[in-house]
Amino acid sequence: MAAASMEVGEGRLNVHVSPSGFPALVLNADFRPLSYYPLSLWSWQDTIKAVFLERVNIVANYDRAVHSPSFEMKLPSVVSLKTFVKPSTYPAFTRFNVFLRDRFACQYCGDREDLTFDHLLPRSRGGHTTWDNVVAACSPCNLRKGNMTPAESKMWPAQMPFQPTVHQLHRNGRLFPPNYLHESWLDYLYWDTELEP
Ligand SMILES: [Zn+2]
Repeated sequence: MAAASMEVGEGRLNVHVSPSGFPALVLNADFRPLSYYPLSLWSWQDTIKAVFLERVNIVANYDRAVHSPSFEMKLPSVVSLKTFVKPSTYPAFTRFNVFLRDRFACQYCGDREDLTFDHLLPRSRGGHTTWDNVVAACSPCNLRKGNMTPAESKMWPAQMPFQPTVHQLHRNGRLFPPNYLHESWLDYLYWDTELEP
């Protein structure tokens, strides 16, 4: 149901949103976005389907309307779910979520280019691929650290790796708003967040 495409890697952190597709911002029943990164957006077709299935309330509209012989309807720009979806406490352990936890920055030098993963305790030394042993690292730092431990390489991550909560990932996701935000979305987004330049 996503109306947004995402490009991660090569330093691009923007989620590309096409305003001409009239995407609707999807809020949970508590009027918070279902997700921030990528921002929870539905295509207008999916949104209208959900309206007719009475799964969502319309919160705001675009000026653009769709017509059929028997009805006319403005395209919703913000909808809220009628039933609250309880967010899971812990997110899945994925490459993307590790990057998001580490804010898409190398944990050794802060670089955002050429990101990959580093095992704090190298796999060759018995380190596992887990939340608390994997950090985002740029290729040069990854190469420099090689098969050494942090103590041997004297390379310590800015933040020791940990298993984040969904809430923590949400908070980080807010730092990367998409390329386009419709004005009707702004009341529900980012107002309590300081955006990084
Ligand atoms: Zn680095």
